[in-house]
Amino acid sequence: MNSTYDQIIIGAGFAGLCAAINLKKAGENNFVILERNDSIGGTWYDNHYPGAACDVESHLYSYSFEPNPHWSRQFGPQEEILKYMEHCAEKYDLQKHVQLNTNVTRAIFDETSGTWTVSTATGKSYTGKVVVSCSGGLSQPSFPDIKGLNTFQGKVFHSAMWDRTYDLTNKTVGVIGTGASAIQIVPAIAGQVKQLHLFQRTPPWILPKPDKDISALRQWFYTNLPFTQRLHRKRLYWQHEIMAVGFIKNPKILKLFSKLALRFLKQSVPDEALRKKLTPNYVMGCKRVLITNDYFPALNRTNVEVVTEPIAAINASGILTGDGIQRNVDALVLATGFQAAEEVSRFEVKGRNGIDLNEAWRNGAEAYLGTSVAGFPNMFLVVGPNTGLGHSSMILMIEAQVKLIMESLKAMKLSKAKFIDVKKSAQQEYNREIQEKLSGTVWQTGGCASWYQTKSGKNVTLWPGFTFSFMKRTEKFEPEKYEMVPS
Ligand code: NAP
Repeated sequence: MNSTYDQIIIGAGFAGLCAAINLKKAGENNFVILERNDSIGGTWYDNHYPGAACDVESHLYSYSFEPNPHWSRQFGPQEEILKYMEHCAEKYDLQKHVQLNTNVTRAIFDETSGTWTVSTATGKSYTGKVVVSCSGGLSQPSFPDIKGLNTFQGKVFHSAMWDRTYDLTNKTVGVIGTGASAIQIVPAIAGQVKQLHLFQRTPPWILPKPDKDISALRQWFYTNLPFTQRLHRKRLYWQHEIMAVGFIKNPKILKLFSKLALRFLKQSVPDEALRKKLTPNYVMGCKRVLITNDYFPALNRTNVEVVTEPIAAINASGILTGDGIQRNVDALVLATGFQAAEEVSRFEVKGRNGIDLNEAWRNGAEAYLGTSVAGFPNMFLVVGPNTGLGHSSMILMIEAQVKLIMESLKAMKLSKAKFIDVKKSAQQEYNREIQEKLSGTVWQTGGCASWYQTKSGKNVTLWPGFTFSFMKRTEKFEPEKYEMVPS
């Protein structure tokens, strides 16, 4: 069975919904959104582990065109963010465009017709002039390569695949990982479990989270005097942009924040031995800086142990560390992150002359403005290579990319082009510039390994600049950078 559309959007997370809303606003209605899950929401549907919340303030981590005056907290919890997305889908009448439980397996471009054929695991295929891939930068869970993991007889779950039907009450639990997910999970379950063993490989840098309830009065102001909400968003925006100076321009600025973090650690953890384990030995910012108020208190609990001895193996009953100590656990939480830099396209993509996207990306993913890849015409990526942020809200980048896509579609329509293909030279020049800028940043020089980089050390995930510079670059379609193939 084949259905024909003007645009095929892959993924119904923040990026996919943003693309769909903008298509609607431009009067386009013949598009489909293919979503692998049984609901919209993307990462905010997947990541429903206990304590899941955003670590960017909700008034910034939301669409600029769809302010929500009713955020209950500075940093919205997962359920509230998902509800916001559902509200957007409903308001812009998107549900009728969404095909759920539809996992894309392949996308093939036909140069003669200038169309893409997208196949799915359900056996259905879709033809469209344009593909907008919004399948997520952090959507493929990464399972640790630990000997014996599959021999464990207890319950195993990845942070992004939480099983809410499993009751952790009075269980002995092992948590592997101390990243952004783990620091939310550990405090949320520490009081419920009998014993928690937290296996830490690298301590994260942690700052206090300026989180609090948003009062009814403030919500009233945001509802009735919308400019107050706009002002609040602006203030948050610039607060975050300032952080970029430290990450990109002058890592010395981060020294100040490191001092703050160390003081926070000292105030929060009275036990010196534990504090030593929790003290990072790399430059702040090299890995994502985490913010939390309840993680250290959770680690102070008598039923929580921080294990820094490397894991030697997992066996049927638990975890064995290098010092020969076996810790038996009922459940194992893998808060081990996602396939990001190493992740090439998750489904087969074939562009002009049958070139394969994974093959084109064998030395690390790259695109022009994170959006177009030479040889793959009329395919646009949202949250593509080097569009991630270490300092602010991804929604800003998503909106900028979608704007560029809309401009590209407009230009294509105006010139009656069959398809547009970014020039290889434009892509190469752009990526040379990006890699050069990245070379001086804390992400490359900070002395850590992170999901930002490929194994060879190439940073293919982060945007090395301010968000306003990315917005500026994506504002207009530059015809000279593309090959416009006439109909
Ligand atoms: P992550 O930051 O990649 O952390 C994974 C953790 O697992 C790290 O501590 C890592 O240790 C550890 N690990 C991985 N493999 C291991 C192994 N074989 N043995 C022992 N430890 C192992 O993943 P994440 O916490 O899921 O966060 C990923 C990203 O998602 C974040 O950076 C953030 O962008 C996003 N996120 C955002 C929020 C939010 O609040 N908005 C919440 C969660 C996640 P090493 O550090 O030594 O590699």
